[in-house]
Amino acid sequence: MNFETALLHGNFDTDEETGATLTPIYQSSAFGHESAEKIEKIFHNQAPGFAYSRISNPTVNSFERRITFLENGISSVAVSSGMAAIAATFLNILKSGDEIISKSSIFGGTIDLFRDLENLGIKTHYIEDITEESIKELVNKNTKAVFAETIGNPKLDVTDIKSAAEIIHSFDLPFILDNTTATPYIVRGIELGADIIINSSSKYINGNSNSVSGIITDSGNYKWNSEKYPTMKEYIKFGKFSFTAKLKNDTYRNIGCCLSPMNAFFNTLGLETLGLRMEKHCKNAQRLAEVIEQKKGVKEVNYPLLITSPYYDTAKKQFGENGGGILTIRFYTKERAFAFINRLKYAINITNIGDTKTLVIHPASTIYTHNSVEEKEKAGVYDDLIRVSVGIEDIRDILEDFEQALEYINNEYPVE
Ligand SMILES: *Cc1c(COP(=O)(O)O)cnc(C)c1O
Repeated sequence: MNFETALLHGNFDTDEETGATLTPIYQSSAFGHESAEKIEKIFHNQAPGFAYSRISNPTVNSFERRITFLENGISSVAVSSGMAAIAATFLNILKSGDEIISKSSIFGGTIDLFRDLENLGIKTHYIEDITEESIKELVNKNTKAVFAETIGNPKLDVTDIKSAAEIIHSFDLPFILDNTTATPYIVRGIELGADIIINSSSKYINGNSNSVSGIITDSGNYKWNSEKYPTMKEYIKFGKFSFTAKLKNDTYRNIGCCLSPMNAFFNTLGLETLGLRMEKHCKNAQRLAEVIEQKKGVKEVNYPLLITSPYYDTAKKQFGENGGGILTIRFYTKERAFAFINRLKYAINITNIGDTKTLVIHPASTIYTHNSVEEKEKAGVYDDLIRVSVGIEDIRDILEDFEQALEYINNEYPVE
């Protein structure tokens, strides 16, 4: 089944009870059963069925099954946010004393989370890129996972997933990949060797910015063992489902980071048009990057599929024609960057990506405000930089808007 067909038909049959063409919103906290025996079986995973929506819910399950199909995994767990997905993934496998190796170009919220984990005795080491040497230098018996984003947000560096997976596996470590900025439309990390895929479905998957949520997809390929991951001991018997079994029966359930049925429904609705939207996001972003790069008063435009990007070759090889919907622009000064944002007519000044509408933000003073200058620069965040999440508008209007704002700042705040 090709991807755009899979968006509609992958792991989806019409609703069994009613024939509805989307799984209905089972907006119920709990589910009653005819006998004590039946609910006992459900609690012991010996019978299918639902008990309580913090544990599982039919609308949420339907969303999970469809993402599993699209990411080519064996199972998925949907949660209340992308951050909850990252937190639950690490809490599912780690204990005090463990260490993570992560690329430094990751989302600001994830850096904040890794700092919180230090209080639990879990340390994160940052590397610029995943190479044999960079891992070798940091790896020790406490290292338990390697983390990266497919396209770093907002550095827009591109992880060579296949090469990274081979290196990480040569150290017998699992590769956890945040695929939010690329989505399974652009690349499916599991096919290239990633072990666990995380998507903040708040972004492109939902598409309309109406719900915050996240989803964790397990490839089933990493061989967890109880010596290295003692907290997983009870679940190793589930073989390739060890990670998911612990997540579903323990971490996810006990943290209580469940997704509401209503939001799962909105995500499924959005998911069906992911292909159409991503095609347009990518096309619009590519065009905007190419045009703005040529303009006076612009210090630099960064977009994975610009020839000037240091990640062009990796992006081309891995993504083909689709470089994603995000670009960054540098304007020489913070004053000019602010004035540019304020002058834009269509683009909304907002902390989000992946909406149908074009969005802009100044990351240094917002998302990265808790990070040090060093952390910011490693994440590709500068004082004169704005991030643009290009929407699906007619690109002619967006180009005109960006051109008029640039002309305005060039007149009012000329570059010295
Ligand atoms: C937004 C984002 C997150 C966090 O997701 P939320 O749904 O906002 O919690 C994580 N990773 C990346 C790359 C993101 O863009």
